[in-house]
Amino acid sequence: MDCSETRQHLSDLNRGRLAPDTTAEVRAHVAECATCAAALQTETRIRSMIQTQAPRYSAPPALKTRVQALFAQAAIPTETIADDGAPSTGWSGRQSRWRVSLPGYPWIVGSLAGAVVIVLVVWSGWHWLVGDPVSLLAGRAVAEHTEYVKDTMTRSPADPSTEIRQVQSQVDFPLGPVFPGDSQVQMIAGKVEWLRGRRTAMFIYRNSSGHYTTLFLMPESGIVIPDEGRLPIETFKPYHTETQGRQLLLWKQQNLACLLVSDLNQAGIASMFLKVRERK
Ligand SMILES: [Zn+2]
Repeated sequence: MDCSETRQHLSDLNRGRLAPDTTAEVRAHVAECATCAAALQTETRIRSMIQTQAPRYSAPPALKTRVQALFAQAAIPTETIADDGAPSTGWSGRQSRWRVSLPGYPWIVGSLAGAVVIVLVVWSGWHWLVGDPVSLLAGRAVAEHTEYVKDTMTRSPADPSTEIRQVQSQVDFPLGPVFPGDSQVQMIAGKVEWLRGRRTAMFIYRNSSGHYTTLFLMPESGIVIPDEGRLPIETFKPYHTETQGRQLLLWKQQNLACLLVSDLNQAGIASMFLKVRERK
């Protein structure tokens, strides 16, 4: 089991929700990996803080978006530091960077750091209480997207109708109409994978500036879309989040849960959403 897979299991590990063999695999990785051990410690600490101290209410969407952006930023330097082999424990690396970047204003840094911790607890509370299965799904989807982009980078565009037909023959639910691409976006390939225990159809698209977007289609049953964190796009309000620097939208349509993961910015994924949504 690698670091990214381990990280996705830490929350479930803490709650005793993992199957025994997965628990053993995660424990084995954590025993050998200082970075994941630190992540598990942080997870445990924050979780116990939430259980003992945090009132249970949801963060307003605007706040959540800002915190998620902070969270995404904070995750990157932590990984980078860890890869260099230097000791790192979660947020301290980020805070010391602020200290460096705001010399002479330690009080600003101090209150900023305090604000981030409070906000984090509220956000994490939301994350665990409401969005956890979705965030796990999101984590897996982003990993698949990243792998898939690597695989298809050198590939020339596929014939969309052939790809769709092949994917449809490998899943036991109707895909319905699938966006075949247009003059700005080309379908590169279609594929079927297991995603968090669900047979999932995947289509990858590349736009003219070389950005990739993956569409995941799976049966909707058992997927609860959080009420918070919706992004208004014309008359629609799909769930929106950003994970590991990728934009992600999730919504339900025609008995399917539809998930878009993209290297594009928020405006870019919104435009892809409309293309996909109108087709379905
Ligand atoms: Zn690790």
